[in-house]
Amino acid sequence: MIALRCAGCAEVPAEPDALACAACGDLLAFELDTDRVHAHAIEEISRLRKASADPRDRSGVWRFRELLPPVADDAITTLREGDVPLIDAPRGASYAGVDELAYLHLGMNPTASFKDAGMTVAISHARERGARAAVCASTGNTAASMAAYAARAGMSAVVIAPVDGISAAKVAQTLDYGAHVVAVEGDFDDALRAVRALDPATVAVVNSVNPYRIEGQKTAAFVLLEQRRWETPDWVVLPGGNLGNASALGKGFREARGIGLTARLPRLAVVQAAGAAPFARAWREGRDLVPVRAETDATAIRIGAPASWKKARAEVRFSAGTVLDVTDAEIAEARAIVGRDGVGCEPASAASLAGLRKLVASGAVAPDADVVCVLTGHVLKDTAYAARYHASEAPHANAIARGIDLADYLNLVMLTRA
Ligand SMILES: [Zn+2]
Repeated sequence: MIALRCAGCAEVPAEPDALACAACGDLLAFELDTDRVHAHAIEEISRLRKASADPRDRSGVWRFRELLPPVADDAITTLREGDVPLIDAPRGASYAGVDELAYLHLGMNPTASFKDAGMTVAISHARERGARAAVCASTGNTAASMAAYAARAGMSAVVIAPVDGISAAKVAQTLDYGAHVVAVEGDFDDALRAVRALDPATVAVVNSVNPYRIEGQKTAAFVLLEQRRWETPDWVVLPGGNLGNASALGKGFREARGIGLTARLPRLAVVQAAGAAPFARAWREGRDLVPVRAETDATAIRIGAPASWKKARAEVRFSAGTVLDVTDAEIAEARAIVGRDGVGCEPASAASLAGLRKLVASGAVAPDADVVCVLTGHVLKDTAYAARYHASEAPHANAIARGIDLADYLNLVMLTRA
């Protein structure tokens, strides 16, 4: 019902743990035979499972297990990930220039980022085949997620990280879950190269080059659609770093339509940070991606050589979508606006709102369009960034009052409502 193939030449890999095609070097991908799955069955099962106490059923990933590569029940390693909220955002809508807007907040996962939905699938499969150690290169979120799931599975976890470029909160979180952290010289792209050179038969490499990760992450599309009673939005806007998530969401929406859960596809808009935007540039110029040396304060998307760009390009093209970039200043302002709806997110996540604002301003997205912005990480993932922002002169910075008369101050606060 679901088979592993090369995403480039469709060759079937001989090794079940392979991360790249032996024939052409492209990434591998699972292919779901959508003719053999029935929409009404999936709708009914997901509805019933939401009322079940079984941890697999309470997970927004494993609730859709008929659409995932099969795994033995006793290998499933879940922290009840995936069931994230779709939250309406009136202040975000008015900032972006649309009538209505909702955030799909993937930061509301067990380790507070979108990585958990893919990690539960990758670690469960690694556990099933007896892997004793999981390894990843990371800008922080993958590290924390892998560390948590490996701990649950009783596996060792080894993180290869450019620690100077990672938020302190993410490093602390990763150490708390018991992972071994190896600091490397260079950036994420150097760390990923080192990890991809390892033999996947001896350790489980769980970066998004691992096709099981993509399978788990695609369920975010189902969770989004489920909360809208399977009504497709016009646009889904999301941040782009290594581009595994854009690939995964695109795949999820395609499969939802293939099965008949939905009638159409949303258009995907992938938003990169201007200092780490090789995909946006390749899209604009209509050519293949050329890696860059990445520089942005949105550390979760500080990636110059995105591994999944070909898959992501295929999904964006198929959805009639687009790719763009926004500056760090635009990201900082949009992040502050996300907070003003009582939601909050880490810097990279706000690229989606900043990108939407730009798309509306240019006329690419109509003000009455039905839009969902994807937020990928929780506000507490990078508190140092938030503190720096509020200590600055930025228009939405929020200073701490000191040495004031409290009664006078409260009167003033009540006069100047939010
Ligand atoms: Zn191939």
